[in-house]
Amino acid sequence: MSESTLRIGLVLPDVMGTYGDGGNALILRQRARMRGLDAEIVELTLDGDVPDSLDVYTLGGAEDAAQRLATRHLTDHPGLQRAAEKGTPVLAICAAIQVLGHWYETSSGERVAGISMFDCTTSPQAVRSIGELITGPLLDGLTQPLSGFENHRGGTTLGPAAKPLGRVKHGIGNGGGDAIEGVVQGSVIGTYMHGPLLARNPELADYLLAKATGADLAPLDLPQVDRLRRERLAAGR
Ligand code: GLN
Repeated sequence: MSESTLRIGLVLPDVMGTYGDGGNALILRQRARMRGLDAEIVELTLDGDVPDSLDVYTLGGAEDAAQRLATRHLTDHPGLQRAAEKGTPVLAICAAIQVLGHWYETSSGERVAGISMFDCTTSPQAVRSIGELITGPLLDGLTQPLSGFENHRGGTTLGPAAKPLGRVKHGIGNGGGDAIEGVVQGSVIGTYMHGPLLARNPELADYLLAKATGADLAPLDLPQVDRLRRERLAAGR
């Protein structure tokens, strides 16, 4: 590994890997390599520490029990919190939004303290939200609609320090009937979109890569990625 290798932290794939969101780290690595950048994935598991020195971090979704193990580990090893304070980009999918909030309630109504990287809280909704989710981005630097697959019982309410990632055009999103989706706070982005998200939304992948590398990234001409993006957007309509 050279000094200039881009280091992508895949956080707790052993407990937050149920929904294939580890694919987001693969996409970041591949899109970096296609620009001639060295990149590697560093898997941060329950039996190790969480370093604050990586260039970008991704976290995936999980069931309630696994999510609780992740919450305890990230509380005991606060490297992700320190990385975010330094402005390192972090991508948190679904259960990870809930873990990064102040607290979440499980589907059985038990309240679990989160790690307060997001000014948000999560409580179970009456009905599970499952299906294609499409939003218009609200984050400066993004112009393309975002799409993913949502599958969550929790509904998330944002506090004043957190902003939504997108406005819902199809699907449920954070819940609560206000048609907003996801969380943005500083360098940390959360969304309910599985997919994996970055395979379906290359603009967001490059947004994170640009933040992580500080580089101007040349566009990639990948017809198969454009085809997937168009197909998935159409599937949600
Ligand atoms: N267990 C959480 C919920 O149902 C998150 C599920 C997920 O990550 N897909 O809300």
